[in-house]
Amino acid sequence: MKFVIVTGGVLSGLGKGVTASSSGLLLQRAGFAVTAVKIDPYLNIDAGTMNPYEHGEVFVMSDGAEVDLDLGNYERFLGADLKSKHNITTGKVYKSVIEKERKGDYLGQTVQIIPHIVNEIVGEVESAAEEAGAEICIVELGGTVGDIESMPFLEAVRQLTRKWGRDNVMTIHTTLVPVVGVVGEQKTKPTQHSIKELQSLGIRPDVVVARSTEKLEEDIAGKIAFFADIPKEAVISAPDADSIYHVPMMFVKQKLPEIIMKRLKLKKNKPEMKEWTDFANRVNKGNKEVEIAIIGKYTHLKDSYISHEETLRYAGALRDCKVKIRWIEAPNMEESGNTEELEGVDAVLVPGGFGSRGSEGKIMAANWARENGVPYLGVCFGFQLAVIEFARNVLGMKGANSTELNKKTKYPVITLLPEQESVKEMGATMRLGDHPVNVTKGKARNLYDSKKIEERHRHRFEVNPDMIEKIEGAGMKFTGRNPSGRRMEICELDGHPYFVASQFHPEFKSRPDAPSPLHLGLVEAAIKNKK
Ligand code: GLN
Repeated sequence: MKFVIVTGGVLSGLGKGVTASSSGLLLQRAGFAVTAVKIDPYLNIDAGTMNPYEHGEVFVMSDGAEVDLDLGNYERFLGADLKSKHNITTGKVYKSVIEKERKGDYLGQTVQIIPHIVNEIVGEVESAAEEAGAEICIVELGGTVGDIESMPFLEAVRQLTRKWGRDNVMTIHTTLVPVVGVVGEQKTKPTQHSIKELQSLGIRPDVVVARSTEKLEEDIAGKIAFFADIPKEAVISAPDADSIYHVPMMFVKQKLPEIIMKRLKLKKNKPEMKEWTDFANRVNKGNKEVEIAIIGKYTHLKDSYISHEETLRYAGALRDCKVKIRWIEAPNMEESGNTEELEGVDAVLVPGGFGSRGSEGKIMAANWARENGVPYLGVCFGFQLAVIEFARNVLGMKGANSTELNKKTKYPVITLLPEQESVKEMGATMRLGDHPVNVTKGKARNLYDSKKIEERHRHRFEVNPDMIEKIEGAGMKFTGRNPSGRRMEICELDGHPYFVASQFHPEFKSRPDAPSPLHLGLVEAAIKNKK
């Protein structure tokens, strides 16, 4: 087994995740079995209880793990189906060590960060990689070198290197080269400091990926190489790219795959990048253009809806269409009481969400799309709110609501899943991960081209089974249900160009070459709507 460790210096949000995903992709396209692990040095067991404002979207994996959005990028770049094990957090590590201590696994010993916590980390990384059957495991260490939280993980990297040997473990350090002053000079000092910090912890970076607005100047690259004690070729310039999908090619041009293969004594293969390059050149481009509104509560931080955004781009790439996104803050629309902000969009997407803030704004958007024949896709909360809007305005159920938002509503069209009634804890207790759905005649069935699908879930509430007959009688059809037929999974509106919503999250299984069918349907309908 070989390990490529990706660390970050200077500051967060530099695109370490993209460096990790891109390196993984290049090695995979060179014929190696690659997997990826993300380490998040926070005390939460998982990302499930975190606000998207803090860390962006909560991604859901097939086994129901609620994880950091970087795992979504790994799945999309590598076409992989990763599991809970691939997101290691400080919380998980400590929990497991403390449980072992209570069981008596360390009987007689004083349990300490070194060796117990560090050994646990090494073991978890190895086991994730082994279970995935990988030859190469990319390990991205979240946070910034120098953070107190990262210390045990950096020590684990050092020990992993000792254990597996230098030929089998290498480190890529991602840093920032800022530009200051009127002459726009690229500055290496922050990079020098973070490399020093890393070295003081016993880790020698083998490659430095330097993020900057423009290409790294030759002498600047030389300076970094000198301080890192690496050849100049191993300093990779990573200026701002057109899209994250162009980054792998940027790495190919600078021979990063060759550097990694040489360093890890791997067979030298050339990555086969033709298909990927074609895709990257099509994304965000096209002869057509549509504008799609995404209405959410966290639209200021666009990463909150990253899987939707990427999925819409993939759908656009497939249909020669540039997809522009109009971000709309639901609470603002709710406050203004009008839908002016939606004017002119070609389609509307209401993504998942929780709680009442902004929910009326989202209901207004569903109402606007339904009444104006504008294509609509609702996902999870967006599905539930579409049903509420329909009950209120078509069935005349005034004040219809979800019991999540109003416990005393006269018309509880969305209610708690029965199995949730006894649930007391918040962490990892929703209906999560892959569940099968039977799809009957309608738009979704045509798009999926299948009667039986499996999609990822993350919810506590559902359509009230007592209301189904009435709703269907008025023209909203439930064309997707769970195998027992009791749980509603997809709804569609008769006589509307495209009004489709799902209780599940189709955006999580989307791949560059295979966008979610429901998002593809939305983009196709938006193109038609525009004509
Ligand atoms: N809040 C809703 C529920 O718990 C929807 C969840 C979501 O959109 N992910 O059922």
